[in-house]
Amino acid sequence: MFDFEKNKLLSANNAENFSLAEFIKPSGKSLIEKVTPFNEFLSNILEQGKALYCRELMGPCEHSSLIFDQITKTPKKMLMFGSNNYLGLSTHPKVKEALIHAVENYGIGVGGPPLLNGMSTLHKKLERKLCEFKYGENADDYDAMLFASGYQANLGWVKALISGNDILIYDELSHASLYDAVTYLNNDPFNKVKTLRFKHNNIAHLKILLERYSSICKGHIFVTTEGVFSMDGNLSKLKEISELCIKYKATLVIDDAHGTGILGENGRGSAEHWKINDAVPITMGTFSKVFAVTGGFLLAKKEVIQYMRYFARSYMFSAHLPPPIVAAILASIEVIQNERQLRKNLFSNVNYLVKNLNELDYGVTTDSAIIPILIPAKFDIREVNKFLNNHNLFINSIEYPAVAKNKQRLRLSVMATHTEEELKKVIKIFTKLKKEFF
Ligand code: PMP
Repeated sequence: MFDFEKNKLLSANNAENFSLAEFIKPSGKSLIEKVTPFNEFLSNILEQGKALYCRELMGPCEHSSLIFDQITKTPKKMLMFGSNNYLGLSTHPKVKEALIHAVENYGIGVGGPPLLNGMSTLHKKLERKLCEFKYGENADDYDAMLFASGYQANLGWVKALISGNDILIYDELSHASLYDAVTYLNNDPFNKVKTLRFKHNNIAHLKILLERYSSICKGHIFVTTEGVFSMDGNLSKLKEISELCIKYKATLVIDDAHGTGILGENGRGSAEHWKINDAVPITMGTFSKVFAVTGGFLLAKKEVIQYMRYFARSYMFSAHLPPPIVAAILASIEVIQNERQLRKNLFSNVNYLVKNLNELDYGVTTDSAIIPILIPAKFDIREVNKFLNNHNLFINSIEYPAVAKNKQRLRLSVMATHTEEELKKVIKIFTKLKKEFF
């Protein structure tokens, strides 16, 4: 049977830059031969209750959710700490109402990609609303474009804007979609673009690269990073990065998947947090985190968006978001703007958990709604998560090869709607975990 341990990771130890295929090297003459080694491995850990993937939600995704337990094969209510639904918007009454209303008025789809099949009035409204939300009084200078996913938004801007003699410099802990966009660029025989990685959040390294390449680059330099890094919950040093970009005349693109709706006084995201809203020429975001639906977006000056609509292949060749989803996002933005208490609750919940987990010596830190809990390499993290699952705690574990063995972690995703009682229960479970495991 396939053995993970015996296989060496070729790519960087980065959650976003590996493929299981690298380990398994699927081969065989028939399709079944090809898929069998991995399936045997998976069946084995599934039987042991140690593959907590693709879990089945039997109702809405809420602070506590009804889950079909893979281990006991029965439904049970679990504390939900494994969702990006940070503000609980997936079940917010105003969001649900807007969605239902849109079904009545717009039906469920536009039947194709925006360039040819068009977009609804709701799509246009959302483009405008995103500009107002992110840029306030400067909204008129900007435009937005919507994608079927954040993944596609990342492929979209990279492929649309970077060509010829351009250079792309990106943080080594960038998301898989950015890595795939880079692969996409590097495999284009007509387009020999240079792509460079800078060490995670390392300003000195980024400066060296910018200094070295800005004098020899015959095209334009793009620098990209994330507002909030999803595996560690930490923030990128956006202010310093933005200053470097200005100095070296590079265009900064922020992936604010986990910052939008959460950070900044008005929930506008990472750029607002660092007070550099006008110094970020391009923002990419997703509707799959705080908005808890699907879709992605790009925000930039009007002329840049207009250009990208005709050059971003993942926009041109993929169907547009369903209008009811667009209506839900519009309603969610209003909730984010009007119900500031939600963000306060979220961070008060985060602070409570960080404080209490640290009293138990878990040594956690975060700047966002994501709390990583490192599990020393000598422990079987799958066994740990099975224990948590058995105690009705739904949480994600991130294990080797997604991260280095000494970086394996549980990833606690906090919601504004978690109650005090639920938080106390989590701390009780972690107290028990400490006693029984570590
Ligand atoms: N960027 C980051 C930083 C993300 O965390 C994600 C989602 N995991 C994406 C992009 C892709 O977003 P989506 O789920 O909308 O495809």
